[in-house]
Amino acid sequence: MSDLLVRALASQVGVRAVACITTELTREAGERHTAYPIAVAALGHGLTAGVLLGALLKAQERVALKIEGDGRLRKLVVEADATGHVRGYVGVPDASSPLPVNRAAVAEAIGGAGLLTVVMDLHLKDLYRSVIALESGAPDAELTRYFAASEQLPSLVTIDVLMDEAGSLVAAGGLLVQVMPGHSVGALAQVAANLAAQPSLETLLATGLTPDELLAHAFAGIDYEVLERYPVEFRCSCSRARSEQALRTLDRDDLLALVADGNATVDCHFCNARYEFTEAELRAMLEA
Ligand SMILES: [Zn+2]
Repeated sequence: MSDLLVRALASQVGVRAVACITTELTREAGERHTAYPIAVAALGHGLTAGVLLGALLKAQERVALKIEGDGRLRKLVVEADATGHVRGYVGVPDASSPLPVNRAAVAEAIGGAGLLTVVMDLHLKDLYRSVIALESGAPDAELTRYFAASEQLPSLVTIDVLMDEAGSLVAAGGLLVQVMPGHSVGALAQVAANLAAQPSLETLLATGLTPDELLAHAFAGIDYEVLERYPVEFRCSCSRARSEQALRTLDRDDLLALVADGNATVDCHFCNARYEFTEAELRAMLEA
């Protein structure tokens, strides 16, 4: 089953919500990065956070999220757009961790001391950039704090990744609920109470939870309408042509050094793709 995102609006109380299931894109990220269980789970948390943030953007806008903590994974970097495409990586994909891997283990592996940086390309003159100090290392809790501190939009973000006892991914997903400007936070408290009355998100994920079911849990007793549903997936924008462009920006001496080496490789951090260029191709770049 492909991953899905659902956006909803409770217009009477001024609250919007995004719910998503991100199991397959997490699995793909884990495979691309040959990630160990703790890194797969952290990628699931981070990519889901990216997908949720991306759903708040307008078409063509992009968001990047970087968490640099003092834990074993060192950093978690994610980029997402408004159409459900997300990519990301962790600093140390082969970091080890005792099993089972759960939310607390992910927070510890990211680390509670460090920085969360959110950069948005809103197609304005400058990029929007916001930095907050980490508190727990759990991406959903940090994102909740980010919204309160930087955007002054009371929000509730909950993300979880269910891993089995052997360290294999079972399911991933998340929910973002946000009070819209000019509305009271009362409805958010009700959503929080609704979620508290349910089993944990990890437990719900084990039942094959859908984004629509997650929204129904969150909005119990609150009128809301679904605005749109769309698939979400891991997708990287790198390409051989872009890698060649990057090589062409090198100065002449650096290109000459690559020619002397006989070849060059360009690796994409985000998806682990490798692009190789032969000596003849490098010479052609030099002569261009
Ligand atoms: Zn790539």
